[in-house]
Amino acid sequence: MALMVYNSLSRQKEAFEPLHPGRVHMYVCGPTVYNDAHLGHGKTYVNFDTIVRYLRYLGYQVLYVQNITDVGHMLDTGEDRIIQGARRERMHPMQLAEYYTRRYFADMDRLNVTRPDISPRATGHIPEMIVWIQRLIERGYAYEVNGSVYFSVSRFPEYGKLSGRRVEELRAGARVEVLDEKRDPADFALWKRAEPEHIMRWPSPWGEGFPGWHIECTVMSTKYLGQPFDIHGGGVENKFPHHECEIAQAEAATGLPFARYWLHNGMLMIRGEEMHKSLGNFITLQQAFERWEPMAIRFFILQSHYRSPLDVTDEALDSAAKGLERLYGAVRAVRRHLAAAPEGEADPAVLEMLEGARRAFEESMDDDFNTPGAIAALFEMTREVNALLNQSTSPTQGTLQAVDALYRRLAGDVLGVLPASLEEDAVAGMAQDLIALLIETRAALRQAKQYALADQIRERLAALGIQLQDGPQGTTWALR
Ligand SMILES: [Zn+2]
Repeated sequence: MALMVYNSLSRQKEAFEPLHPGRVHMYVCGPTVYNDAHLGHGKTYVNFDTIVRYLRYLGYQVLYVQNITDVGHMLDTGEDRIIQGARRERMHPMQLAEYYTRRYFADMDRLNVTRPDISPRATGHIPEMIVWIQRLIERGYAYEVNGSVYFSVSRFPEYGKLSGRRVEELRAGARVEVLDEKRDPADFALWKRAEPEHIMRWPSPWGEGFPGWHIECTVMSTKYLGQPFDIHGGGVENKFPHHECEIAQAEAATGLPFARYWLHNGMLMIRGEEMHKSLGNFITLQQAFERWEPMAIRFFILQSHYRSPLDVTDEALDSAAKGLERLYGAVRAVRRHLAAAPEGEADPAVLEMLEGARRAFEESMDDDFNTPGAIAALFEMTREVNALLNQSTSPTQGTLQAVDALYRRLAGDVLGVLPASLEEDAVAGMAQDLIALLIETRAALRQAKQYALADQIRERLAALGIQLQDGPQGTTWALR
């Protein structure tokens, strides 16, 4: 069966055919780096990483671009997220963006998310954005007012084709703008005039200012992937207005289609509610890693389809961790048996069973990257493998090597939940548990007013390169 993907643009599953045979050009909207990544980021980037991994498994040469938004986009209050963060952390905005970019990648590394081939920064592409905006003005799709430039939505009749929203609806729903300089409330900013207190600013033909959020994705995706390109991914919450605006800017400026397949992943919920700082249910990845192994979190994410919403509960994560441990148990047993197995070719009956497992796994993944189905195929295989290991005659080296190789390929390369060496992983996990134990001990000592001993723990850890940070939510640690 050929790979079928659900395209948000056509609202149906379509056979996937890249523009250039054998190559896939793919873009996914990256993070705004003003704060630590949270569980929702974890879901989005694990979902798209698994899609990239499967495309590579199928033999495609994938060029994967994911931007870093280091120009803060506007909040509803008219405030800029990066500047707000910089004020909070007392850092220069670029220092703040660099700090959180590094932390973002460190978190993604722990989730075994393969780094994108190109991670373009918005601040590195201001001249290209200015040229693009100029082209939109020349073609009559944008206009300048008081040093800001807006896209004229009524000039682009296809506006709304991705989200299914109509411009009239938008006008009716548009909130009262802080600035009512737009010709139409549905218009959106391409370039914003910088107020005197704005630190991140660039010269432009319209005076000093900074780009809107939507324009960076249009410009950076097409710069590296061409236009049109194959896949544009992102969270469903960005379908409107962000992705709709990306399409309008791209297609109005060039007359060419923008992205051919739009893939949207479902939102992450916490016990049935959206995750919001105001609801007090906001969980950063760092906080989640303190309780669950990053691989267990990744496995939990993949147990539901990427387009589905994912509801996080402690019980569901605990149960995912147990499920993954069952898989690891079988892989460990295979590797243990392998060390003492008699030499010999692979058993044809076992090879046939493995072939069936591989086919079932691929059939699920070919069906719009159905990872729950793929995981079910792996567990079906694991049942057979456990039965094989429990037989009275020991399987041959050839048989066990074939089993191990398939686990590495499907659970390791494609799903990204099986580290090359499980032993190393166990040691790394134990080191984390030991640090947590020391943090607890230090807290107990401080409570008992044994400050000298508590400080000694902190200093000895610091000497090992482990920095403790005390905060209102307790003590966290980081490697220095
Ligand atoms: Zn984007």
